[in-house]
Amino acid sequence: MQQITNHMPTAELQALDAAHHMHPFTAGHGLARKGARIITRADGVWLTDSEGARIIDGMAGLWCVNIGYGRRELAEVAARQMTELPYYNTFFQTSHVPAIALAARLAELAPGDLNHVFFAGSGSEANDTNIRLVRHYWARKGKPEKTVIISRRNAYHGSSVGSGSLGGMAAMHAQGGLPIPDVVHIDQPNWFLEGGDMSPEDFGIARARQLEAKIAELGAHRVAAFIAEPIQGAGGVIVPPDSYWPEIQRICDAHDILLIADEVITGFGRTGNWFGCQTYGIRPHVMTVAKGLSSGYAPIGASIICDAVADVIAGDEFNHGYTYSGHPVCAAVALENLRLLEEERVVEHVRDVAHPHLAKRWHALADHPLVGETKLVGLMGSLALTPDKAARAAFAEPGAAGFITRERCFANNVIMRHVYDRMVIAPPLVITPEEIDILMDRVTTALDEAHAKMRAEGMLKAA
Ligand SMILES: *Cc1c(COP(=O)(O)O)cnc(C)c1O
Repeated sequence: MQQITNHMPTAELQALDAAHHMHPFTAGHGLARKGARIITRADGVWLTDSEGARIIDGMAGLWCVNIGYGRRELAEVAARQMTELPYYNTFFQTSHVPAIALAARLAELAPGDLNHVFFAGSGSEANDTNIRLVRHYWARKGKPEKTVIISRRNAYHGSSVGSGSLGGMAAMHAQGGLPIPDVVHIDQPNWFLEGGDMSPEDFGIARARQLEAKIAELGAHRVAAFIAEPIQGAGGVIVPPDSYWPEIQRICDAHDILLIADEVITGFGRTGNWFGCQTYGIRPHVMTVAKGLSSGYAPIGASIICDAVADVIAGDEFNHGYTYSGHPVCAAVALENLRLLEEERVVEHVRDVAHPHLAKRWHALADHPLVGETKLVGLMGSLALTPDKAARAAFAEPGAAGFITRERCFANNVIMRHVYDRMVIAPPLVITPEEIDILMDRVTTALDEAHAKMRAEGMLKAA
């Protein structure tokens, strides 16, 4: 077999990719006709593709490269750990320094009494852990019928069968027989599309009270937990009205329901605090982390668990774990990533520098003819595209406008993703004001071009 390198012609790489590589969340035949864009290098907030184009990454990979690309410190720590102890498990009454050190550091960083860490290889795996953990917790408390987990439509909690069931993505449930039993969904706090004539604050309360209604319908004796992202990420950066989270917290407290905060995106500085639950004043019993934990340099996730729940679980053997739970190389990389985030005051940079600068440019897009709503918390933002701003109207064919806009972004060498007709950004947290200006100049050009194309094609009509 020939050696495949960065220096091969793009067309040859694309042909091999199409022949052998199945992509996640992708129609293979469609991609094969078009050819994948091949990324060869990255540094800071910049990607380089196989044609030499320099692309500004408004998505931090998949919401994960918080520290930015190309950090030697992380490469060096990985090399050192691979030489010293590349692998050992934590199953058989053994432990190792990277897992111990990372668990202790996470306990220190996480708010309240979230002091106990169960490692996984990803966010999906960590949420699978959470399903068993909360059900087993109630069983050990003498309430084995408390098994139902309430989640939300259009939530994203991962792609395994368990975590995909927790998620509320209809397209995912449609394939492979999801959801698993005893997972139910309430509506999301998406005021722009679903708020009707209500004020955002009234709508936030109404959506939170769906949780109370669902608990009443099932009986609290059946409900183990409620799981939610502080801000829905993959669902389109849906920022809840301010009234939403305090009401959710009140309901969980009142009915003795465990609260799981899925912080896979909102963790590690994304919202301008270390965790999204600090931004919203939420007190979860369990927190899911992954992505920014290692800035994507190594695959690792974890459940961070409060004293009371961990104590009950610790009473006998928890029949659960992954070969790579606490993998020493991934744990060492994550620990170094957390050290860099702290030492370089990256969370403060988000709060005091990057967010205020981006906010000025982002909210200015509210005047664009295509944009009906702008949202930005820390460095996660979204734009709702609409054919009619005043009516907060949806497009006749959901997703087509978003797809065109994303294509224009690609053509302008900026990565901005679309979720149906919401455009989302989540750049690396180290982005500078100068880079934010470049990002936003390109985003604005892409929106103008998308608008012109939609007008030419007669798409600016409401559903
Ligand atoms: C990405 C994501 C997950 C899944 O993490 P993976 O590492 O892809 O398994 C879970 N929850 C949220 C909120 C996510 O954004």
